[in-house]
Amino acid sequence: SNVTIKRALLSVSDKTGVVDLARALADKDVELVSTGGTAKAIRDAGLPVKDISEITGFPEMMDGRVKTLHPMVHGGLLAVRDNDAHVAAMTEHGIGAIDLLVVNLYPFEQTVARGGCRDEVIENIDIGGPAMVRSSAKNHAFVTIVTDPADYDELLAELDSLDGATSLAFRTRMAGKAYARTASYDAAIANWFAFGDAFTNPLGPEALKATPFVDKLPLAFSLKDTLRYGENPHQQAAVYVPQAVGAQGIPQAEQLQGKELSYNNYNDADAALELVSEFAGGDPAVAIIKHANPCGVAQCPTLLEAWQSALACDSVSAFGGIVATNVPLDGPTAEAICEIFTEVVIAPGADDAARAAFAAKKNLRLLLLDRLPAASRPGFQMKTIAGGLLLQSRDNGDIGAEDLKVVTKRQPSEQELADCLFAWKVAKHVKSNAIVFAKDGSTAGIGAGQMNRRDSGRIAAVRAREAAETAGWSESRTVGSAMASDAFLPFADGIEVALDAGASVVIQPGGAMRDEEVIKAADEAGLAMVFTGMRHFRH
Ligand code: 5GP
Repeated sequence: SNVTIKRALLSVSDKTGVVDLARALADKDVELVSTGGTAKAIRDAGLPVKDISEITGFPEMMDGRVKTLHPMVHGGLLAVRDNDAHVAAMTEHGIGAIDLLVVNLYPFEQTVARGGCRDEVIENIDIGGPAMVRSSAKNHAFVTIVTDPADYDELLAELDSLDGATSLAFRTRMAGKAYARTASYDAAIANWFAFGDAFTNPLGPEALKATPFVDKLPLAFSLKDTLRYGENPHQQAAVYVPQAVGAQGIPQAEQLQGKELSYNNYNDADAALELVSEFAGGDPAVAIIKHANPCGVAQCPTLLEAWQSALACDSVSAFGGIVATNVPLDGPTAEAICEIFTEVVIAPGADDAARAAFAAKKNLRLLLLDRLPAASRPGFQMKTIAGGLLLQSRDNGDIGAEDLKVVTKRQPSEQELADCLFAWKVAKHVKSNAIVFAKDGSTAGIGAGQMNRRDSGRIAAVRAREAAETAGWSESRTVGSAMASDAFLPFADGIEVALDAGASVVIQPGGAMRDEEVIKAADEAGLAMVFTGMRHFRH
């Protein structure tokens, strides 16, 4: 099943690396055929190359719209080499086999992204390229297709190791990639026809709002990477990225070191990134994530303090955690993080000292982004269910001090209000039912994912007490803290949870049937309580 490459057709818009590739192929006695611009580049480098018009007997015409659309080309790509009738047809019509096709397509997406006019966009719809790509990929039993300059080195390595041939495994993998490319290419074209540049251009949120996002979903994503496995080893998994230009997130981060990201790494790293993005532009903040829930979040005057405070919340769970920061990493913080086993660290940059500190921890995955994604941005979340798909817009709910309604006799102090808002921000990122205690810019205890709110509160309080023991503090940090509940407290016993933990103020959506009872219980205990009027379920 190894096929020796004797003749190659090169036709690329992105000329990156094509001359070096042509030279390497010529060295291996591969005959080169090429289209206009590509042929010129190869010829200018002093290499022998045949023009496609010599093969087709037609000039490239109509502004390049018709160059390779010809039986002499597609016959050479599609003929089944061990089929007698196909071979007879090749002989009869003088069709020469093409064993290798190197194509990348007209830059349609880039033309839309840079705001090209309608005529330019239309002219950048490649016709002959995708046709050849699909022909060769179909015939991958005999033909090698390469659509990505990033794969040239691997192609040459393959030819070196197999004495000028490629293996079926390599051709099959490249064929899959080729179809993924033509699929995403046509999807981008279809999107443009349907929505103009609203989808491709992230600067057009108004245009995006105007068209319901649900219509865009089936066409909006393309394959970035397959993963070793999914949430569990017996599951398959892959990462898809939007075709929108300028997306920022874990798939776009630069990985400086460590093993490949796993499915769970992606999921947890994303949770960490989304959480610190809430603190963009503010004091240094750190979030430590385990199984998509935060086990410690803090915002302090320095990043090192934020790390120490976040870690103190639950140093037991932080083991093997995922850490994200809202500001670039510095040396002292990096060294402190390295003291405990950490799976992934994500940050908008890192200074030299931080990089050096992490370099000593080879297995730690260090991910750097140019900038944090906007916490509130257009977008959606997706969940498959038996027989269908659920889609919802992102939870962009954002509450400020001005949105809070004090419902108790006691007014919260400035500090209590600040603690409330901090606890609330964190609670938004904790699986429901979520109870978060926070004090002085740090979570004191977090209770996540319980089936009733009291249990979440009890777990948060127990964690906080254990943290106090570990740290040797005289009392739990929940004493005098703010307690946030992601959804309303349905019964007065929610207030008991706050009191047991020593909280002095409660922030919750309000709106329960028994609000009166809950407020009365708070008043009797001298607690302050504020309503947000908004809940943050997260499942
Ligand atoms: P070149 O720069 O070599 O003149 O053109 C290379 C580009 O032409 C590639 O992106 C390739 O996909 C595209 N291409 C090759 N054949 C055809 C064709 O017959 N029609 C159109 N529209 N594009 C083609």
